[in-house]
Amino acid sequence: MMKKGLLLVISGPSGTGKGTVCKELLKREKDIKISISATTRKPRDGEVNGINYYFVDQDIFESQISKGEFFEYAKVYDHYYGTPKKYVMDEIDKGNDVLLEIDIQGALQIKEKYPKGVFIFILPPSMKELKKRIVGRGTESEEAISKRFGSALGEIDYVREYDYFVINDEVEEAVEKIRSIIRAEKCKVKEN
Ligand code: 5GP
Repeated sequence: MMKKGLLLVISGPSGTGKGTVCKELLKREKDIKISISATTRKPRDGEVNGINYYFVDQDIFESQISKGEFFEYAKVYDHYYGTPKKYVMDEIDKGNDVLLEIDIQGALQIKEKYPKGVFIFILPPSMKELKKRIVGRGTESEEAISKRFGSALGEIDYVREYDYFVINDEVEEAVEKIRSIIRAEKCKVKEN
């Protein structure tokens, strides 16, 4: 029987730089497949349908929910986000590793349905640095910043639901840690 690929689930509070970490990881690990999520939020400048997300209307998203097409889905900041199930399962069955960069609610659903997944939580180096990164985005109002910071603080506790934590101080180092986790997972004797 062919060995299944790993399901890598990466989450972390907003402002931890998990997007950058995932992007750099994929540059170094070219065989990892990225799952493209569906979302009801509007594309931002430069985002492309079918590359960053599948941008869909709410009624389409809801019909996909009722047809059971999502591995998990969640409402994040007023919009739906979901992981299409078929692509992920097909790739894992083919022996390919698949990366999901999803929020905590989604990761917890995957953990229920697929405990064999490898759950990695990205942490900021410090609270001070987290605040700096959230403020540093520049575009948001004072109120939006404190909302984001408040929810990021609440999210940090969820690290205990994950298998691994990776502190994103230097991106390169965080990426190397994740690569080590992947290598170790591939050497595991016991399947959980
Ligand atoms: P953004 O709108 O900034 O691209 O993403 C907002 C949040 O939604 C991020 O925390 C991102 O990880 C999360 N997210 C993206 N795709 C999915 C998904 O398919 N499922 C879930 N549960 N969260 C997602």
